[in-house]
Amino acid sequence: MGKVLIIGAGGVGQVVAFKCAKLPEVFSEICLASRTLEKCNRIAEMLPRKIRTAQVDADNVPELVSLIETFKPDVLINVALPYQDLHIMDACLATGVDYLDTANYEPRDEARFCYQWQWDYHDRFKKRGIMALLGSGFDPGVTNVFCAWARKKHFDTIREIDIIDCNAGDHGHPFATNFNPEINIREVTAKGRYYESGKWIETDPLSISKTFDFPEGIGPRKIYLLYHEELESLIRHIPGVNRARFWMTFSDNYLKHLEVLQNVGMTRIDPVVYNGQEIVPLQFLKALLPDPASLGPVTKGRTCIGCLIKGLKEGREKKYYVYNICDHEQTYQEVQSQAVSYTTGVPAMIGAMMMLTGKWRGHGVFNMEEFDPEPFMDALNRHGLPWTETIL
Ligand code: NDP
Repeated sequence: MGKVLIIGAGGVGQVVAFKCAKLPEVFSEICLASRTLEKCNRIAEMLPRKIRTAQVDADNVPELVSLIETFKPDVLINVALPYQDLHIMDACLATGVDYLDTANYEPRDEARFCYQWQWDYHDRFKKRGIMALLGSGFDPGVTNVFCAWARKKHFDTIREIDIIDCNAGDHGHPFATNFNPEINIREVTAKGRYYESGKWIETDPLSISKTFDFPEGIGPRKIYLLYHEELESLIRHIPGVNRARFWMTFSDNYLKHLEVLQNVGMTRIDPVVYNGQEIVPLQFLKALLPDPASLGPVTKGRTCIGCLIKGLKEGREKKYYVYNICDHEQTYQEVQSQAVSYTTGVPAMIGAMMMLTGKWRGHGVFNMEEFDPEPFMDALNRHGLPWTETIL
């Protein structure tokens, strides 16, 4: 049993709050804090039990420290934006509280993300006797656990990992993103990158694609190679991997809009002066696009995220696929959110549960694949993200 402080009252924060509220035997008390108090209160009103809410600017470390000292959580779940990661980790260090997030740190003025900034906190967290669990969403998150599971149960050596993320849902808007538009567009418009034979290979954005036949009636869809943060940690923690890639589906409509927005400069992250005022085009675009939280009631269809893994077992080549399918309408019925927020929020709750129940413990900064995958895989089946595995 422990007290949890959730930072960020967006699409993912809503799911985390719902899921923690459903488990009073693990999360004895909950506080949801975010930049805009009304968003916390709106979520709190939907929940099956009473929680606290608070207004906080997570970039203001003293303000966050003061909130932590007042509420005294056992674990902090950061589902604000990647820009806040280091400030929130600083506040956890100052107060001696365990930390969890779902996305690695990204500087606001540079479309670049990498784990090193957060891995650099390892010694300080270790010395303080606290734990940070990085990337406990779906991808990163469950995909890392899928790889650890494959390694434990199916392979002697993993040689190739392809993480494949499909959102076969439809929200009816000509263009919208299923999670924070600014983060999503920065990720998709960045150069692609994959790992092969000991080095990273950079590709032009969305320049490599192929067709993948998704299971359970989703069928063939075009997938595009992107760089994604879990590749960096998987290469570090799973020995023997020769190739690791990340793929995502995009509809033709999404790509058409994105191309135009890029061509006219609306995805730029550097400030431009308009009417004497500096504005960042991508931040302005975010203000125009539908709030991802508003897509819940209108999104239909399913997501399918999984890992296709090749390697050796007892001297023989083996090919293995493990995936989860999640239905947008079903998640909306359960927690009033679409499946992209759901598939991120549920693993964040499970990661915190692993930490609070002592199933995953350590002092320092850790990625998901460093722990025993079994209790997490079991919890996925019990808390709304059942998985299926096949030997191909
Ligand atoms: P949203 O934009 O919907 O929510 C982010 C929330 O954080 C908002 O409520 C926002 O406040 C709040 N926030 C932003 N800045 C601050 C700050 N300085 N202090 C306090 N609160 C702040 O994003 P999502 O819910 O879609 O995504 C949340 C996180 O989950 C992101 O980091 C995203 O990258 C990650 N993610 C991870 C995935 C995975 O599988 N691993 C998949 C999808 C998302 P306000 O409402 O005032 O703007």
